[in-house]
Amino acid sequence: MKFIEALKLRSKLFFLFMLITSGLIIIGIMGAINIGAMKKNLDSLYFGSLVPVTELNEILQVYHGNLTNVIYKAKSNEISKDQVNLEILSSLKKVKQQWQSYKKHFKRDEELQYVEYVSLEIEALNNYFLKIRNINNKEDALRKLSIETLETKIAHIHKTIKKLINYEVEIAVYERKKFLVTYDAIMKEVGVVLVTIILGVLFISFYVFKSIQNDQTRLEIATKRLKKANKKLENVSYTDVLTSLHNRRYFNFVYDKELKRAKRERKFITFMMLDIDFFKQYNDTYGHMEGDKALVNVASALKELLKRPSDYVFRLGGEEFGVILSDTDAKNSEKVASKICEAIKSKKIPHKNSSASEYVTISIGLVCCVADDALDENFLISKADEMLYEAKNNGRDTYVLTTDVADLKEVAA
Ligand code: GH3
Ligand code: MG
Ligand code: MG
Repeated sequence: MKFIEALKLRSKLFFLFMLITSGLIIIGIMGAINIGAMKKNLDSLYFGSLVPVTELNEILQVYHGNLTNVIYKAKSNEISKDQVNLEILSSLKKVKQQWQSYKKHFKRDEELQYVEYVSLEIEALNNYFLKIRNINNKEDALRKLSIETLETKIAHIHKTIKKLINYEVEIAVYERKKFLVTYDAIMKEVGVVLVTIILGVLFISFYVFKSIQNDQTRLEIATKRLKKANKKLENVSYTDVLTSLHNRRYFNFVYDKELKRAKRERKFITFMMLDIDFFKQYNDTYGHMEGDKALVNVASALKELLKRPSDYVFRLGGEEFGVILSDTDAKNSEKVASKICEAIKSKKIPHKNSSASEYVTISIGLVCCVADDALDENFLISKADEMLYEAKNNGRDTYVLTTDVADLKEVAA
């Protein structure tokens, strides 16, 4: 069954379809052949017994009815001589025809001898009636005809033909028995073949199904692995390598999503732009490596502070960070901005060449508003950027908030 394993899924299904179809076709052909054979048997049973018996009965009928009646009528002068002659001739013709037809049917060897004997008896009786026809032409000859002789002869032929009829009936019974035996044998044969075909189809189908199931399991495992790998890849592509914060790519995705949600629900949305103060000097003073460490420290302070599931913090690039707060009003957003400034300073990362503080500090520009359909998607970013510029101008280590999308600005104390 290895060749089934090697097939592709579509080929396996096609193979299964062909298997079942050919199984059904074979069953159909077998059924048709056997029904045909059965019909033949029934035909031979019918024609082999019913017709010969009917023919023999017809002969008896002619002797008993037509011929005997015509003699009785002739003796009592009820019918004319011409009618008598005509009736005798037509009846004898009928007897001959029926007898010839009967003899044509298949006869067994043991039957042939008796048939020959009956043939002679019929011929003798027919000659007797021909003689009656001849004497009929002579005056008064029929009146002298012995009814006793006639009845004896009719009784004899009746006995003789009846024996043949009984023989034919016996044959019919025998043939029926034979037919039933053959029928049982055929049914057994058909049963065995059908069961073999069905078992064969089931057996192979089982393998095909098993193989399809294996394919399916392999596919499911591969899909799971692929999903996992994709998730990993997605995480990597959304994470900043240095700080492990979400990167700019993820920011674009979240910003768009959160802005749309805020617009839909008419809720507050806050965006903050954060920039470390005098970071160029920091690098110049402590070296780039120390600069990187400071960035990681700032990032962990931000992460520490923004823990709510609806708060997002990103490293947008260089020493710039972005924060999105959902469903937070201006007062609370301002509190968060203030806490951030405090938290960074309280990390006490020395920055001796900063004119803002002896430690590393950060400046924040933030914008908070209730989103509506009129809100342009770039507005919050450019507005926050503007506020950040102001915070820098205000001496750094501070935040500037605006809540008005129509350019109303508030400078933090
Ligand atoms: P300001 O207070 O006006 O923001 O002054 P600044 O010196 O921070 O201004 P600027 O934006 O000109 O300088 C940013 C500096 O941040 C420049 C670069 O040396 C430093 N920087 C950017 N990315 C990295 C980084 O990944 N690692 C390190 N160590 N330094 C970085
Ligand atoms: Mg900068
Ligand atoms: Mg800076």
